Amino acid sequence: MTAAYPYPNSPQHIGHARTYTIADVNARYHRMKGYNTLFPMGFHYTGTPLFAMSKRLREGDPEIVETFTKIYGIPSATLEKLKDPKSMASYFREDIKRGMIEIGFSVDWRREFTTIDPLYNRYIEWHFHTLNQKGLITRGTHPVAWCPNDKSPVGVVDTMGDVEPDIGESYLVKFEKDGVFYPTSTLRPETVFGVTNLWVNPDARYVKANVDDEHWIVSGEAIEKLQHQNHKVAVEREVQASELLWKTVQNPVTGNEVPVFPGSFVEPDNGTGVVMSVPGHAPYDYQALTDLRQRYEGSAEAGQLLQATTPISIIRLEGFSELPAADLIQKFRIKDQKDRHLEHATEELYSKEFHDGIMKENTGSYSGMPVAKAREAIVEQLTREGKIETLLELRNAPVVCRCGTKCLVHILENQWFIDYGDPEWKKLAHKCLDQMVILPEELRAEFNYTLDWLRERACARTVGLGTKLPWDQNWTIEALSDSVVYMAYYILSKYFAKDWVVFKKFEKDTSRLPDTFFNFTLLGQGTVDVVAEQTGIPKRILSGIRSEFQYFYPVDMRHSARDLVSNHLSFYIFHHSSLFPEKQWPRGIVANGFVLMEGAKMSKSLENIIPLRQGIAKFGADPVRLGVMATAELGQDTDFSESLAVSIQERLSTLIGQARKLGTKKTVGKSKPSTLDRWMISRLSSAVQTATSALDRLRVREAINIILYQLDNDIAWYKRRLGPKKPKSDNRDRILRKALETRTRMMAPLAPHTAEEIWNRIGNKGFVVQTDWPEESESEKDPATERAETLVRQVLDDTSEILKATGITPKHIAYYTAADWKWQVYLKALKSAEEKRKQGDFIKDVMGDLQLRSLGKIAADYAAKAIRQANQMPDEMRQSRLRDGLTAEKTIFVDSVDFYQREFKCAVDVWQEGDMKISDPKGRARMSEPYRPAIYLE
Ligand SMILES: [Zn+2]
Repeated sequence: MTAAYPYPNSPQHIGHARTYTIADVNARYHRMKGYNTLFPMGFHYTGTPLFAMSKRLREGDPEIVETFTKIYGIPSATLEKLKDPKSMASYFREDIKRGMIEIGFSVDWRREFTTIDPLYNRYIEWHFHTLNQKGLITRGTHPVAWCPNDKSPVGVVDTMGDVEPDIGESYLVKFEKDGVFYPTSTLRPETVFGVTNLWVNPDARYVKANVDDEHWIVSGEAIEKLQHQNHKVAVEREVQASELLWKTVQNPVTGNEVPVFPGSFVEPDNGTGVVMSVPGHAPYDYQALTDLRQRYEGSAEAGQLLQATTPISIIRLEGFSELPAADLIQKFRIKDQKDRHLEHATEELYSKEFHDGIMKENTGSYSGMPVAKAREAIVEQLTREGKIETLLELRNAPVVCRCGTKCLVHILENQWFIDYGDPEWKKLAHKCLDQMVILPEELRAEFNYTLDWLRERACARTVGLGTKLPWDQNWTIEALSDSVVYMAYYILSKYFAKDWVVFKKFEKDTSRLPDTFFNFTLLGQGTVDVVAEQTGIPKRILSGIRSEFQYFYPVDMRHSARDLVSNHLSFYIFHHSSLFPEKQWPRGIVANGFVLMEGAKMSKSLENIIPLRQGIAKFGADPVRLGVMATAELGQDTDFSESLAVSIQERLSTLIGQARKLGTKKTVGKSKPSTLDRWMISRLSSAVQTATSALDRLRVREAINIILYQLDNDIAWYKRRLGPKKPKSDNRDRILRKALETRTRMMAPLAPHTAEEIWNRIGNKGFVVQTDWPEESESEKDPATERAETLVRQVLDDTSEILKATGITPKHIAYYTAADWKWQVYLKALKSAEEKRKQGDFIKDVMGDLQLRSLGKIAADYAAKAIRQANQMPDEMRQSRLRDGLTAEKTIFVDSVDFYQREFKCAVDVWQEGDMKISDPKGRARMSEPYRPAIYLE
């Protein structure tokens, strides 16, 4: 199994620990279950983040300096060393590795490598050669997110805050005046029929430009975008907004003249900075028009023009008035154009009209068409007439490159792409996914969506560390493309280090290591003789690598964070499905949520970041491990806090204390196990069973809960029931030791250091990590005893409640269990309810019994009550009570008399209703029912 190799451009904090701790728990758990589990680790140097971080340090960026010195406690003198990207990487690599050792990750460090090691570069060259031979690398012209400063494509790892750039298309509908075009950007070109005016920002800078031999008026910001999207652009002159305002332009579809109004909400870097206004169907436009009218009330010319501008209704929408935009404004009680609810109103209306809207009579040949269809048709018409263009935008703008520059969409020509759109490849990837275990399972839908949705993806950059594209040395393979098959490299890296004498010559000149080496060791192609001959590598080493690869591959479980589902983890599936034969495809993925700090996202500004190594020093390794896992299951975010870590620390200390008390002397219980012993063993066996099934699905929180906490309740109850008396014959110590031993073995994957400590203190030889995971045993399970014990406990609780409520200090307590005839009726009622028989039949059946009939009204009343209870009972409870049948309640309580007397410090008697010599001064016995003995106190 593998976990995502870390990126060493800063030290790790508590939040980083979650993925690796869950991975380590998984590794340790499986080792105890008898698997030879390999958990290796490497370091990812590829790409821009290291460059950007060291550059910010060189420039003395105060935020970085402060983060490194104040939060992470890096000495100022060391900062100098970090100004070079590679020294920064090796410094943090060392720091991260130390942290991983301190927290106890069971990593095979012999296989450690970095992605700038020459032999790794050679491996990635082989990877890309192979993809290229399969036709999966394409060269072409595609839009990419782009940093104009670095002149390089950007992906999620290249942006500030790790934002995945989201490219979307909008339309530019070209309004016209005197041969000059006003391209308005819109997502809804079909609403051009309802345009009443255009908006421009009165404070923005506009230009007149020659775009593809046309004259265009657009914002200054739009010019750069157009240039990056292959338009021929030459700026002719600046244009003041005032030159545009209050003039009219012509609607390209209706031919109507519409005025240009000032709209300060128009963002000049969104689209072209010129927007068409459709107040009938766009809440923003409706509100802006309303606001503008108010502002120009009384002004002669502008006021008149505004009064004459009225919303036009062009889409019919069931359940709405002529002007749905006005309805939404009312519904969301919007006050002005700065109201943040406008966005919700807009979203709601756009989606409703798109799905259910019908074009009205005033839309000419589109009349009667559904909106979705009309949109396609009008785009087609306007394209034919040259009145519409498309503009690609970053939908989640602003996306900022790590160099600090705002990114935009660039049409990249003759660039190298990995073709995730290839239909055959998609089929393979889906086949691979379908056979995989995905934890949590609900992420599968997101994987399916991503596999379908992925298209060509730029795979190289002009900046950053990494492997050069083998056939085009100007480009470096980017970070999300050189990190998808490195799991196989862990097999190679061990031999590269171990047999360094053999491999060092290749490090000096990697071209001497041919693709046939990788083809043989990883794909089983060619023969050992030929490869040995070609490379001079001894046959035994080549065969050794090949057989170790076949032994460990595929990766059974890959651990990562859930935000990598839509990129890295999906690429991982794609590449493996193409490169390797099916039997070496990945078997499973675990993707976990984030770690919050006291309920908040960790951020430098909130100063709530705890560096991992400081956390380990402060709380101890095991409290940190448990702390990042204890509050949520995989898919959710967990919440770490100092108080949580401290309470876990105390919990672990208590367990160590228990071990000390128990001591190293092994006691051999001689006597036959009592009912209570059997109960404790049964509870222990159930705990093993639940913890095992929890860890099988990596429900780590549940496992922690059972092993560290719930078992304690049972052990405490066992001790309380036994009482302080310690006859020589009792099995107490033997049972408690068994419980602690079992528990310690279950703790070993979760809190390995504490587990070893306890293991040693109770006198065991060797390491707990080398023992087996405990097995549940069916023969130790005793459900009837467990249910009897539940009854004892419930009666204890009920009695305490009564004492508390009445304030009585009891001198005597009597418990009355139900008469046998009540049990008969009760079980009949359960059976009748189970079989869903008619109530009347049940009563008839009961009264048909001579003995019951002789009891008269008492039996009839109880039968009515019993059937009511039986019908209302949860199915599971009813079935288990039916299975148990008649329970010897009196015996259970008689056996517990000592216990009750000790608890309540008074005499306790137990009777069954109907006993010959029953003492029942207040006539309580008749109130008893099965599972509900009557209680009498005095
Ligand atoms: Zn940049």
